[in-house]
Amino acid sequence: MTVSTAETKQNHSVKEQLSNTNPLIEFQAVLKEAIEVLRYPNDVFEFLKEPMRFLEVSIPVRMDNNTTKVFRGYRAQHNDANGPTKGGIRFHPDVTPEEVKALSGWMSMKCGITGLPYGGAKGGIVCDPRNMSLRELELLSRGYVRAVSQIVGPTKDIPAPDMYTNSQIMAWMLDEYDHIREFDSPGFITGKPLALGGSEGRETATSKGVLYTLERICELKKIPIKEMTVIIQGFGNVGSFLAKYLYELGAKVVGISDVLGGIYDPNGLDIPLLLNSRDSFGIVSNDIERSLSNQDLLEKECDILIPAAIGGQITKNNANNIKCQIVIEAANGPTTKEAAKILQERDILVVPDILANSGGVIVSYFEWCQNNQGYYWTEEKVDQHLKEKISSSFEKVFQTSQCFEVDMRIAAYIEGIRRVTEASRLRGWIT
Ligand code: GLU
Repeated sequence: MTVSTAETKQNHSVKEQLSNTNPLIEFQAVLKEAIEVLRYPNDVFEFLKEPMRFLEVSIPVRMDNNTTKVFRGYRAQHNDANGPTKGGIRFHPDVTPEEVKALSGWMSMKCGITGLPYGGAKGGIVCDPRNMSLRELELLSRGYVRAVSQIVGPTKDIPAPDMYTNSQIMAWMLDEYDHIREFDSPGFITGKPLALGGSEGRETATSKGVLYTLERICELKKIPIKEMTVIIQGFGNVGSFLAKYLYELGAKVVGISDVLGGIYDPNGLDIPLLLNSRDSFGIVSNDIERSLSNQDLLEKECDILIPAAIGGQITKNNANNIKCQIVIEAANGPTTKEAAKILQERDILVVPDILANSGGVIVSYFEWCQNNQGYYWTEEKVDQHLKEKISSSFEKVFQTSQCFEVDMRIAAYIEGIRRVTEASRLRGWIT
């Protein structure tokens, strides 16, 4: 189990500071603005502001001490006009219905921008994986699938990993689903282990997608990647792979952070050393000094700042102190709407999460296609198709932002909304 104890602790402290940011309100505020730019009628907003379907379940689990604990679980299906819904399941003590609903809306936007034949979904279970044994986690994963089995499936709603869930959890969930349906259905879930029909390149997909986005920005700004200084907040799955790729390409990674704090060196960090000293929880060795807090690191000088940890990191309280030229959002929802406005006024380009971190769901789609076909791709093929999808999506969003004279977040929403609205209209759901 690669659940990060330390990241969970970080989440708690950050959540405390950010207790008044509600992701659903954030989602709805940007959605409304984009719908107004498009001059779509308000019923489009009324239709898209909440998921079409939301299921709340109780999952009883016989714990190791022989007591029964009842967990709350959620599944939000935002919109299925374009195809089955798609999105990860997070295991976290702070999961709320609002967060799951907002994340499902963001998934609809991601699938719309990238042209995947899916709508958005998201699931969550309120639990603390740090304090659970593997046996308890397996029972919880299986219990969740039993509880939501009627509304999920390879042509209905396809789950995937998200915060603190991994390929092992996907394997248990797949097995439970196969038992319920009494046939083998690898396309029920993505992010599976390779041996159970997973895809090459799925584990690194989100970080590669962020990298390809960054490459497009460098082309646009006509600055070679080697001349870029980069700070990455978070050294988990996305942050660590990204640091590795950037280092290999010769970019100067001047700052990274884990839960214990930030490590910064204007001359560039020794990324191979940090990667070698990183444990399976994404924490670098205690021998390496963290001279800064996570929040302080965000305010250090660099060309590109990449929040790759959790939501709500750049707010109106620190947006004026950010000293980069470009923010690329690798996490879901790291910049609040108010902060994004401040950054825009300060001429800082923000590449939104729903575009920059869409590599994960793109390769999930490739995994599902391979499962449906029973024919498996090489890592090179996955990579090449991922790069093409990210580049064309970036181009589309960039052109839309120029055409409507809006920032890239609004442009990305415009692309997402257009696709969901067109399919919903064709089905006769809205006018
Ligand atoms: N949880 C990832 C995301 O937020 C991936 C979702 C998927 O692969 O369906 O985009």
